[in-house]
Amino acid sequence: SKAQLFDKNTNVKITFKDVAGLEGAKEEVEEIVSFLKDPEKYTSLGGKIPKGALLVGPPGTGKTLLAKAVAGEAKVPFYSLSGSDFVEMFVGVGASRVRDLFKQAKEKSPAIIFIDEIDAIGRARGKNSFSGGNDERENTLNQLLTEMDGFATKEHVIVIAATNRADVLDRALMRAGRFDRQIFVDLPDLNERKEIFQVHLKPLKLAENLDTEFLAKQTPGFSGADIANVCNESALIAARKNKKAIDQQDFLDAVDRIVGGLEKKNKIIT
Ligand code: ATP
Repeated sequence: SKAQLFDKNTNVKITFKDVAGLEGAKEEVEEIVSFLKDPEKYTSLGGKIPKGALLVGPPGTGKTLLAKAVAGEAKVPFYSLSGSDFVEMFVGVGASRVRDLFKQAKEKSPAIIFIDEIDAIGRARGKNSFSGGNDERENTLNQLLTEMDGFATKEHVIVIAATNRADVLDRALMRAGRFDRQIFVDLPDLNERKEIFQVHLKPLKLAENLDTEFLAKQTPGFSGADIANVCNESALIAARKNKKAIDQQDFLDAVDRIVGGLEKKNKIIT
């Protein structure tokens, strides 16, 4: 049987209230929601709806979550693939996968296409470090550019891509009419970490009224994904101790564990 070419979700339940903090980024993508909800309102005055937006920021900061929330708010289908899936792909497969993805999204227009880790396919062409150029990756990138240039006026597909390496991207991707909007999604500050804790504490069974300000202060440099991880770990730690509910000490133990994991990860990198 044929492997799934990309993920498709026609009924996204995630909305902006699931995305804590990121007020600036949310404000910017609000415009995309508005285009998708009522494209004719904009095109009737002769304007062209933007085709792409690039979310730029460190890992785990909520880029995928934000892109999904755009689809959820606009109530449009969400098609996604990851650039890393294209690494080591057979000749022709990458380009045809991109073609297929756009074809399906256009049929269901208005729609969102999300491309995670776009740097894996969108690196500047002809500057590949050791292989001296990866033709298949370039074919895939060229197909993506072709597709973005080729929308008919009635096809309202907006492509949102995410990267933590905007500096390595091929300039052609940023040209007008492609990913000409860049939206920064940064690590959360103290207040944002507090809000992210509030979101991820909600499904947990807590022993006491936990002080989210205190938790936020224990987690400087943590991403939203790290905080989600802390919340989940704390539940597992409490369960292992046969507790009926999670208390502050379980959170502190979970933070220690995550910090340990992050330090290990950094050691491997450096
Ligand atoms: P990557 O660059 O590694 O793909 P990303 O920026 O796309 O990461 P997400 O995949 O959106 O990050 O985040 C992972 C998980 O972390 C989310 O599903 C969510 O549970 C949590 N998370 C991250 N940021 C936030 C946020 N701002 N508010 C609430 N939850 C968040």
